[in-house]
Amino acid sequence: MTKSIFIDTTRCTACRGCQVACKQWHDHEAVPTKQTGTHQNPPDLNPNNFKLVRFSEHRIEGRVEWLFFPEQCRHCQQPGCKAAADAYVDGAIIIDEATGIVICTEKTKELTKEQCDEIIEACPYNVPRRNDATGMLTKCDMCIDRVQAGLVPMCVKSCCTGTMNFGDRADMLKLAEERLARVKKEYPKAELLDMEDLSVIYLVSQPREMYHLYARREVKPLNRADFLAGLTRPVRNILG
Ligand code: SF4
Ligand code: SF4
Ligand code: SF4
Repeated sequence: MTKSIFIDTTRCTACRGCQVACKQWHDHEAVPTKQTGTHQNPPDLNPNNFKLVRFSEHRIEGRVEWLFFPEQCRHCQQPGCKAAADAYVDGAIIIDEATGIVICTEKTKELTKEQCDEIIEACPYNVPRRNDATGMLTKCDMCIDRVQAGLVPMCVKSCCTGTMNFGDRADMLKLAEERLARVKKEYPKAELLDMEDLSVIYLVSQPREMYHLYARREVKPLNRADFLAGLTRPVRNILG
């Protein structure tokens, strides 16, 4: 049975305990930052922040509302990042069979910066980030070391509001459906985001594009240049 995370954003208070816990567990450095007029900090995902609580302010039915979105890798069932990486370095991005967790390995260091850019571009949620100091491509690993030891991911462990949930996929899908039914009574536009395709399932109460740019799924039609690039990629690999 693969594992899933269910994130009920309607319960999130933006305390950022999950964000800090993720940094602590992964021994990530503090990142210099500055105030940009929002409580969202740092401004974006980076190699030292696999988790980021996004803040978005809106006026809804005459009231100012803050929408919170604890962002992380979705651990796609068919990950675009892996498909793109496979064309260059076998084993750079892998899927753990037992859990379904998508992992960037040390082999991502063998990728060039341009290849990493292409892999980031292939992610519909704009998640991976390259660590320019080490050359490694980075993102949330669903705390696979903890999961393999029978523990829950650190962000789930630290969340005391019931926003973050972790367990067997079937249980998380059931919980997600139950919460959706309850939330819909107050928020008719509530929905579960792409749940069939992802191991990290979000429940949102407002239209997804109101949370942030990549809360929507970036589905790019294959254009001619991409198609030709795909055809020639194996040749480019052989030629180095
Ligand atoms: S710990 Fe829970 S409530 Fe706090 S920001 Fe993270 S998801 Fe939201
Ligand atoms: S969300 Fe992006 S980085 Fe995460 S598994 Fe899916 S394609 Fe890969
Ligand atoms: S699952 Fe682990 S690595 Fe991923 S965001 Fe949560 S704490 Fe960070």
